Amino acid sequence: MVQGTEGYRFQNWASTYSCHPELYFEPTSVEEVRQILELAKQRSKRVKIVGCGHSPSDIACTDDYLIRLNKLNKLLQVDKKQQRVTVEAGMLLSHLNEELASLGLALSNIGAVSDLTVGGVIGTGTHNTGIQHGILATQVLNDLDTHLKQSEYFRFFWFPHTDKVTVFYADRTDKPVKASSSWLWDYAIGYYLLELLLWISAFFPRLVPWITQLFFWLIYSVKGEQVNRSDKAFNFECLFKQHVSDWAVPIEQTGKALGQLKEWLERNPDVRAHFPVEVRFARGDEILLSPCYKQNSCFMNIIMYRPYGKELPRERYWAAYEQIMKRNGGRPHWAKAHSCVRQDFEKMYPAFHKFCSIREQLDPSGMFLNNYLEKAFF
Ligand SMILES: Cc1cc2nc3c(=O)[nH]c(=O)nc-3n(C[C@H](O)[C@H](O)[C@H](O)COP(=O)(O)OP(=O)(O)OC[C@H]3O[C@@H](n4cnc5c(N)ncnc54)[C@H](O)[C@@H]3O)c2cc1C
Repeated sequence: MVQGTEGYRFQNWASTYSCHPELYFEPTSVEEVRQILELAKQRSKRVKIVGCGHSPSDIACTDDYLIRLNKLNKLLQVDKKQQRVTVEAGMLLSHLNEELASLGLALSNIGAVSDLTVGGVIGTGTHNTGIQHGILATQVLNDLDTHLKQSEYFRFFWFPHTDKVTVFYADRTDKPVKASSSWLWDYAIGYYLLELLLWISAFFPRLVPWITQLFFWLIYSVKGEQVNRSDKAFNFECLFKQHVSDWAVPIEQTGKALGQLKEWLERNPDVRAHFPVEVRFARGDEILLSPCYKQNSCFMNIIMYRPYGKELPRERYWAAYEQIMKRNGGRPHWAKAHSCVRQDFEKMYPAFHKFCSIREQLDPSGMFLNNYLEKAFF
């Protein structure tokens, strides 16, 4: 169990602010951070992280528990091709600068000093200058904009109940076809295995996160490049029968909406979500009832499989998903399952009434309506 120190006095770099936390910690692992947070929760204490203490304010001060991450300061991963590194939040920028230089890389912008931690500069909006450059936090690796610019057809899969994501980049090319194959799919082994395991999970729902992990490692964790005809590149194996819901949120809401979905699933561990949550992007348009009407959008597609036709519980997951999408300005895909009615669409689409009057002119007797459309328009 990680030990806290009593009697520690914290002072910021400029000696303008100080505090006497009840306990001071220097954890050496994520597990120890978890233990400290658990202790704080049990004792109703507040927790503050301090980086280098360079902030010229009392932002890092607390009377309760203070955690310094100076021992969580390692370089974890390097992807030279993507010009990306993964580091722990307690790493000093001065250390990071050296690591990057040895790789022939550099941050595209840093502030006036480097005696700061990665966590501190990200958390406080640290900046320098250059109208083409954002604050330092915009260089953080999972920056959606970077991915969207990097590839013409970018999308990613999130694997519910895990932190795993698989990213797909696709671009046009003149190169000859070089398709890779997987024995799991070529002989339909993956297909049969997944359907069987999901069917078993109807009786042992706790298996779902394990199945998700297993398939991530078997199939989706593999890095690879292939060249294929465009139709073959766009189509992908949708496996067997499933329920699907797919809402478009304004692109700026992507991180927030996905984060809220993940958080909701974590708060409700008895709800099991199937993989993948497929995240795709589309340009805004001027089509009156397009989910992308006047906004660049992110489609977030959730699924629940029906192994051998068996229905698995999805009502709570579906309802929570819809609420999150609505809260983030979402609009449902017209073809996929949703529970929206006219009142919802009126709020979602600024041109809803214009569309309705055009529809009424073109079909005054309602000849082209059905139940689904009546719910949407009446
Ligand atoms: C001489 C000097 C020059 C500066 N130059 C610039 C500049 O050019 N541009 C600019 O924008 N700013 C500048 N600053 C401000 C500086 O960038 C910020 O104060 C920065 O946050 C300091 O980093 P730190 O690691 O010392 O963070 P701290 O001051 O220790 O902490 C700042 C905040 O970040 C939080 N935090 C730290 N680590 C984590 C973590 N791992 N997880 C969650 N929260 C965390 C803390 O809880 C606290 O709220 C300067 C400051 C000084 C003293």
